[in-house]
Amino acid sequence: MITQTEAIALQIRPWSKTSHIVTWLTPDHGRITTSIKGACRPKSPFLGQYDLFYTCHLLFYTREHDGVHIAKECEPHHRRDLLRENWRAAALASYLVELTARALPPREQHADIYKHLSQTLDYLAAHSDAPLLECMIRYELHLLYFLGVLPDLSPCETCHTPPPEWFSFSLATGRLRCQHDHSPHAAENLISLHPTIQEAFTHLRNKLISGRYPLHLEPSPIKKKEEKSKLPLGLSRFLGIFITCHLDVPAAVRRVTLEMIETTPTQKFALQEIQQP
Ligand SMILES: [Zn+2]
Repeated sequence: MITQTEAIALQIRPWSKTSHIVTWLTPDHGRITTSIKGACRPKSPFLGQYDLFYTCHLLFYTREHDGVHIAKECEPHHRRDLLRENWRAAALASYLVELTARALPPREQHADIYKHLSQTLDYLAAHSDAPLLECMIRYELHLLYFLGVLPDLSPCETCHTPPPEWFSFSLATGRLRCQHDHSPHAAENLISLHPTIQEAFTHLRNKLISGRYPLHLEPSPIKKKEEKSKLPLGLSRFLGIFITCHLDVPAAVRRVTLEMIETTPTQKFALQEIQQP
């Protein structure tokens, strides 16, 4: 069967001397993998037709047995050229496509994540001054939300105790662990969270769930400052631990991305915090 789709290139790997294996995100077929035979031959019709971050029109033969389909035709629909010139934005875009490729099970339809990734890449390719750390956190939070694994840092509704000096968060359950909770899962992989992080995260989570957390920050200087103050340094660290644990991304990949996108002394400070064991 021949299938036609739009597709964003997430990963490109060599397959033989002249062929590639490409992982794509599509709106209707989720994450798929195709071989591109003879991709590197001098007269290949595929030359220049796809690259990382491109959205392409893709035509492929469906093969069900091993999950690797065969690309028949491919042509770029949206190349996002600015990402070839702005290396910091390219570093972030590389992390986002890698994260997406790792987090999504194959062939599970996720039109919401497709749209989300497409818009985020568009934004990075259109704004050379995009606030990269913030773009990263926004994308990660939306991805966790669409995958149904967004952590919940609401305090226990049963106890009505005053907030503690530090919250105890269970990585296994994705929730805060309350003193009255004696279930074995809640006691696994606990991390301590300062109330400012709990508050900042809950604020973003509520905005996200109620549809008031847009994918992009419009570049108004005042708004930028307000938003920044809501992102304490520990929030990125917390998200990093959670994502590493739940989405199969090596901690080093995220850490190196943070190192590459940092441009301000504040972000440098955040980096030091993240590097602590
Ligand atoms: Zn409780």
